[in-house]
Amino acid sequence: MFDLSDHVALVTGGNGGLGLAMAKGLVKAGASVAIWGRNSEKNENALAALKDMGGDVEAFQCDVTDPEDIKATFDSTLKRFGKVDSCFANAGGSGSTAMLHQLSGSDWSSVVDLNLTSVVDTYKAVIPHFLERKSGGKLVVTSSAAALLGTPLHAGYSTTKAAVTGLTRALAVELGRAGIQANAILPGYIETEMSRETSQAFRDACKRRSCSGEFGTLEDMEGIAVYLASQKSNFMTGQTLVLDGGQTIHP
Ligand code: NDP
Repeated sequence: MFDLSDHVALVTGGNGGLGLAMAKGLVKAGASVAIWGRNSEKNENALAALKDMGGDVEAFQCDVTDPEDIKATFDSTLKRFGKVDSCFANAGGSGSTAMLHQLSGSDWSSVVDLNLTSVVDTYKAVIPHFLERKSGGKLVVTSSAAALLGTPLHAGYSTTKAAVTGLTRALAVELGRAGIQANAILPGYIETEMSRETSQAFRDACKRRSCSGEFGTLEDMEGIAVYLASQKSNFMTGQTLVLDGGQTIHP
C-alpha cells in the first residue's frame, strides 16, 4: 500500500533525530533517500545506518541557512538521483533560551534563519523542479508542539514553528493545481540531541501532558513520513498533522 520504490525523498537534517527516523521509514518503504546535514561525521554514520538497511541513499553536507549552499546541494542531489519526489524540510533547532526582550538581534535572526528562512529557501530550490517535471510533488515541514503551546523563553522557536504552518497553507493553495501537496508534521516531545537539552521541568510537563504518560519515539516519525511521501496522501494538503500523544490537548 505504501510502496515507495521509484520515489526519491530529500530529508534536511536527516543525519540524526527525527530526520534520520523519517529517512529510515522512507528507506523501509523502498524510497531512495538523500539526507542533508552540516556535520560530516554524523552524515557518514547516518549514511552507514541507512545503507545497512539496504537503502539507495546519499548524504550531502549542507548548511540550510546558506541559500547558495542549498542551491548547490540540490543540484548535487539531482545529479545523484535524477529527480526528487518529496522534500522533508526538517532541519531546525531551538535557538537561544531567554525572554524575548533579552534576545539580541542576532539571537532572533538566527532562529528565524534556521527554522523559517531555511525552509523557504529549500522549497525555493525544490518547487521549480517539481513544476518542471509536471509529476506533482510533496512538501513536508517539521513544525512543533511549540507552535500551539505557549513555550516560555523560546518565543523565536514558537513563532517560527507556527509560521511554517502558515507557509504550508499558502503553498497548498498556490501549488495545488500543479498537483503538489504541502503539509506540516507537528511533533510533540521525542527524545533527540536537541530535545535532551531542555530542562527537566519541561520534559516532566511534556510527559504529564502526554495522554499515555510517555514521550513519543523516533519510530513514531516513520509512518507519517511514509504516508505524506506516498500517493495515498494526494488529497491531504495544507494540513498540520499533530503527532504528539495528546500533549497539546491535555490541560
Ligand atoms: P536534532 O538536533 O537531533 O537534529 C537536528 C537536525 O538538523 C540535525 O540533523 C542537524 O544536523 C540538522 N541541522 C541543524 N542545523 C542545520 C543547518 N544549519 N543546516 C543543515 N542541517 C542542520 O533535533 P531533532 O531531530 O529533535 O529536530 C529535528 C526537527 O524536529 C527540528 O526542526 C525540530 O524543531 C523539530 N522538532 C523536534 C521535536 C523533538 O521533540 N525532538 C519536537 C517537535 C519538533 P547537523 O548537526 O549536521 O547540522
